[in-house]
Amino acid sequence: MFNFSYQNPTRIVFGDGQISQLGKLIPAGSKVLLTYGGGSIKQNGVYQQVIDALKGHSYVEFSGIEPNPSYETLSKAVALVKAEKIDFILAVGGGSVVDGSKYIAAAALLEQDGWAILENKVRIKAALPLGCVLTLPATGTESNANAVITRQSTQQKLAFSHPSVYPLFAVLDPKVTYSLPAKQISNGVVDAFVHVMEQYLTYPVNAAVQDRFAESLLQVLIEEGPKALNEPENYDIRANVMWAATMALNGLIGVGVPQDWATHGLGHQLTALYGLDHAQTLAIVLPALMQQQRATKREKLLQYASRVWGLQQQDPERQIDEVISHTRAFFEQMGVPTRLTAYGLPASSVDELMTKVMDQGMDKLGEHGDIDYSASRAIFTAAV
Ligand code: NAP
Ligand code: FE
Repeated sequence: MFNFSYQNPTRIVFGDGQISQLGKLIPAGSKVLLTYGGGSIKQNGVYQQVIDALKGHSYVEFSGIEPNPSYETLSKAVALVKAEKIDFILAVGGGSVVDGSKYIAAAALLEQDGWAILENKVRIKAALPLGCVLTLPATGTESNANAVITRQSTQQKLAFSHPSVYPLFAVLDPKVTYSLPAKQISNGVVDAFVHVMEQYLTYPVNAAVQDRFAESLLQVLIEEGPKALNEPENYDIRANVMWAATMALNGLIGVGVPQDWATHGLGHQLTALYGLDHAQTLAIVLPALMQQQRATKREKLLQYASRVWGLQQQDPERQIDEVISHTRAFFEQMGVPTRLTAYGLPASSVDELMTKVMDQGMDKLGEHGDIDYSASRAIFTAAV
């Protein structure tokens, strides 16, 4: 196991009716910016619960943060924060609203334009404090330090990470997920699954705790994901999916182990160019990456096959073939297709994608930094 230092400062407030705790969770006397998306929270009653809980706090609203939150929209919120002298941000929504709010929190304390954060041209020193009410279990953003922001004008989708944007608290009420369209539950389960895989399917470093935690999260998602689609108002199923998605990317299973993240890096290019949902891109890239990286990931692929899927082939190569098929079949079972062509993207899109990958200088991906341009091309080609 590698050395590590771990602290997760986010308070999780989990369960039915817990939005009512907001009044106590937000520091007294704060002037709050309430951020949300396209209006789902007004239809499912979450907005009203939040407004009721905010009694006694002064707040301003900013709505319209879109899926794959854009720099263009968020810049308007940054200007509002500066003009209104906001000192706390409350994000109510899915990963896009929370990620966007992290960007607002950091950019609001900069003198120059916030895009410099995504281009690594400025060091963040501090951010406004933020908290969130999560409405879509998927990204783990509710208790991590990451955010992914898209610049529409240049078709760039870039990520940043800084400890100052860990939410102070995250309210997780599984009931607020009942109103999710099936597609978003599917996306969420696939995203969480791939988060675990990016931290697990690398090379062994004898990290028994992290491995067993990761394997249990994968099994929970495999077992509960399809049930969450079939029984949308089963509280326990939704609670298990929600907590699994948080645990998948709150840092715990990633300490002291190598991490990959190539699937996310390549997947972001698919969203930037063609607007595919985040999880759709991951379902396309991961099975192809497992195939292309089967030699370097061999030991962990075999461990994953036997421990997570209970596969017991005599021949290791067949075992690996089979576990890649099982992974692909799971995504398909969740309703997320795993081939570029299934989204109407022809083989020629590989060239466009590679231009994008090369523009970003992404030539050292993966846990060994050995997924170079030719490997990425092979992965996209295998995904056609
Ligand atoms: P999302 O983009 O936040 O939301 C997708 C859609 O679901 C929106 O249209 C939203 O509608 C709707 N929605 C949310 N909650 C709902 C509810 N309870 N009922 C009905 N509809 C609801 O989806 P996401 O998958 O959570 O976030 C994706 C983003 O997160 C991507 O940009 C991805 O790159 C990023 N990401 C971040 C991390 C991280 O660690 N920070 C990790 C992985 C991915 P409204 O707009 O109307 O609310
Ligand atoms: Fe993700």
